[in-house]
Amino acid sequence: MTKVEFFRHGLTRADAQAVADVLDSPFLTSGAVGRGVELQLRQFFDMPAAMLVNSWTNGAVATLLALDVGPGDEVIVPAMTFIATSNVVELLGARPVFVDVAPDTLLLQPQAVASALTPRTKAVIPVHLYGQMCDTAGLQEVLSGRPDIRVIEDAAHCFEGLRNGDSPGRYSDAAIFSFYATKNVTCGEGGAIVTRHAWLADQLVKTRLHGMSAGAADRFKAGFYRHWDMDRLGVKANLPDLLAALLPLQITSIRDRLAQRERIAAVYEEACARLGLRVPASAPGVVHARHIFPIHVDPALRDPLITALNERGISVAVNYRSVPATTYYREKYGFVPQDFPVAWQWGEGTLTLPLYPGMPDEAIAAVIAALEQSLAQLR
Ligand SMILES: *Cc1c(COP(=O)(O)O)cnc(C)c1O
Repeated sequence: MTKVEFFRHGLTRADAQAVADVLDSPFLTSGAVGRGVELQLRQFFDMPAAMLVNSWTNGAVATLLALDVGPGDEVIVPAMTFIATSNVVELLGARPVFVDVAPDTLLLQPQAVASALTPRTKAVIPVHLYGQMCDTAGLQEVLSGRPDIRVIEDAAHCFEGLRNGDSPGRYSDAAIFSFYATKNVTCGEGGAIVTRHAWLADQLVKTRLHGMSAGAADRFKAGFYRHWDMDRLGVKANLPDLLAALLPLQITSIRDRLAQRERIAAVYEEACARLGLRVPASAPGVVHARHIFPIHVDPALRDPLITALNERGISVAVNYRSVPATTYYREKYGFVPQDFPVAWQWGEGTLTLPLYPGMPDEAIAAVIAALEQSLAQLR
């Protein structure tokens, strides 16, 4: 039996050498290596500002702080996403307003956002789910009468994806990436924020580091200690050079790895069509980052299918149950799952197949064979 892991990172000895180089220097936390990666990110995304953070989650908290989101504010989020998207809103004392997603792409739609606006709406967090970018240009259009509303893209799944040629960050106030262990670019734990606003970048320098006016590297510049001040509250969200050192090679090789992801996704899509399995539709004009490959089956079949695949040595995951259907949100806001029928039904029937660059052909074939046998046994 071929055992297939859900995910394997592609870090190599060259990356280990980059970490060893940091260990050889006297400076371990945020310094020259991170600044080099930030320059690389500015060039990759063609954006004026990019800041490394130690997770998407802390980066989002730093961004919401910088945008003064807090109690009394509403923030629109999709009902189908990872819990972090709405948890950061909760953490700041604002109210997440969940909106159901499109039945075909499972993405947050501009028109659905328009119907959820109230005078209290302060921000929207569209999620580029599974690697497919939302229509951020369309979102900007429906928000054109409300310049007070901020848009923060959850680009945790979409480092290399495009929509009509544009990367995340083009039609928003900020886009936030995750470099968590299983993401398309990873340093174990980490993330980055890109923004086209110089004023927001200036605030993020503070809100990602306690609210301090100078980072560690700047406090000891050229051998002279410099005082620092704090004029606003921040969080501890800076990324250490030890982890930033793992990023440069992955960023330069991202297009090559995307081609490998696309090839595997195409094989899976062909198999799913043959087996009558539902997969999210791709919107026109999208270059999909193919972060993960979810499928959907009859909810009664989902958990038995997970077990049947596991018994055949195939690791799978669930991405995701609908967020408002989780106990915390259900109990706090009195949601019933059917308030967001598309997200709820998808969440009850979805499971994710293994997909990673460098996945051997026999592993891909083993996943499809196991899927075929398991469905034949269960249907
Ligand atoms: C992984 C993920 C996050 C959280 O990222 P961290 O870097 O682990 O904080 C947020 N949103 C989505 C959609 C994710 O998949």
